[in-house]
Amino acid sequence: MNEPRTALADTVIVGGGVAALWTANVLKNAGQSVVVLTNSPLGAGQSLAAQGVIHGGLKYAVGGKLTDSSEELADMPERWLAAMRGEGPVDLRGADLLCDHQLMWSLPNVISKTVGFFGSKAVRGRSGSVPREDYPPIFDTAEYKGKLFRIDEPVVDPVSIIRELAKGVADETWLVDWNQNAALKVDGENISAIQLTQPDGSNVRLEAGQFLLAAGAGNGELLSQIGITEPSMQRRPLHQLIVRKKGLPNLYSVCVGTGPKPPMVTTTHHDSEGRTVWYIGGDIAEQAGVARSEAEQIEAGKAIFAKLLPWVDLEGADWFTWRGDRAEPHTGTGDRPPGAYLKRVGNVLIAWPTKLALAPNLADQVLRDTEGGDSVETIQFDLPRPDLGAAPWDLP
Ligand SMILES: Cc1cc2nc3c(=O)[nH]c(=O)nc-3n(C[C@H](O)[C@H](O)[C@H](O)COP(=O)(O)OP(=O)(O)OC[C@H]3O[C@@H](n4cnc5c(N)ncnc54)[C@H](O)[C@@H]3O)c2cc1C
Repeated sequence: MNEPRTALADTVIVGGGVAALWTANVLKNAGQSVVVLTNSPLGAGQSLAAQGVIHGGLKYAVGGKLTDSSEELADMPERWLAAMRGEGPVDLRGADLLCDHQLMWSLPNVISKTVGFFGSKAVRGRSGSVPREDYPPIFDTAEYKGKLFRIDEPVVDPVSIIRELAKGVADETWLVDWNQNAALKVDGENISAIQLTQPDGSNVRLEAGQFLLAAGAGNGELLSQIGITEPSMQRRPLHQLIVRKKGLPNLYSVCVGTGPKPPMVTTTHHDSEGRTVWYIGGDIAEQAGVARSEAEQIEAGKAIFAKLLPWVDLEGADWFTWRGDRAEPHTGTGDRPPGAYLKRVGNVLIAWPTKLALAPNLADQVLRDTEGGDSVETIQFDLPRPDLGAAPWDLP
């Protein structure tokens, strides 16, 4: 058997979601040679299941003060909008902005809390109350007794985001199967190489200055293969609701209730046949929702709409659900950690953005922690390329 060819990259990135692809674009544009290895269609996992809300932290601050989470997030809407204008290291000009703001609507019993929050200095300039004459049709009814606020947090289309990010590193991205054609070579807590086997049986030993694990829920297994025990990974499950009906109006909104989490966060999308989809997360998709069967979750969804927005006609709508996990570093409290997470162990960088919105923040951290490369060489393998994954409503 011939000696394997050795290929050397500045950074090898394992993963294929927003974390891997955003960071790969940033490193490539900083002059590094990168290789991206994914084991599934791009964005499969969390990124294509995201609602696409580019949080600036206001949702997390409704309790009254801006928290760690909200400070980390504050710059993100402008970072994403700049990328969508083609300014900056990541070019998202071809991606779709679904809406440049969200509406925050309150239930009648929480109006004073909401009005107090939106009047506070902390949020001035990032939100405002919506005058009654500007209410969109869905709230423009005497039956709606709450108030409406506009928050300047855009909503993007995750499918188009992943598609555009993938274009920027298409030549650097490969599909691998760890049971067939890829093997991690470990030396202590370092990765010494990834051995890639090509269809003709020849091997390539892929070495790198550093290996970035940005594989979402896949990081857990990769860390245990390398023998890294700290950080460890937590999963926080969600059970999202999907309502599909022709002609549903646009609704990009956060409902404010009495609890710390919004009862419902709704975004509007279109499936591959052009039908309108409301995608619903928030408290309804968290623990109690996760414990429900799909049928029970749909009943809970119908009940909350009947209670909060009874005038909305959902007769004849298709209802279904999507289950999945958010993957993050273990916090010990079961909560989401503040900010994007990055930790170096030897030549391994372990990353979880913890939010789609925080991908730019994660890439900044990786770039700061990286020796500048000056290689523009694209490394070639005889391996397949990954396809783009699908949104939850377009999955088979
Ligand atoms: C229902 C839901 C709604 C959300 N809504 C929002 C929102 O509105 N706004 C927001 O900011 N955030 C949101 N999030 C969070 C956000 O989606 C995630 O934080 C983000 O997408 C994580 O990106 P990632 O690249 O780390 O992981 P993923 O998107 O899960 O990608 C990981 C990728 O790595 C690849 N992979 C896995 N294992 C391996 C392996 N062993 N080898 C090679 N490749 C591997 C897979 O192909 C996968 O595509 C939401 C999350 C969920 C679940």
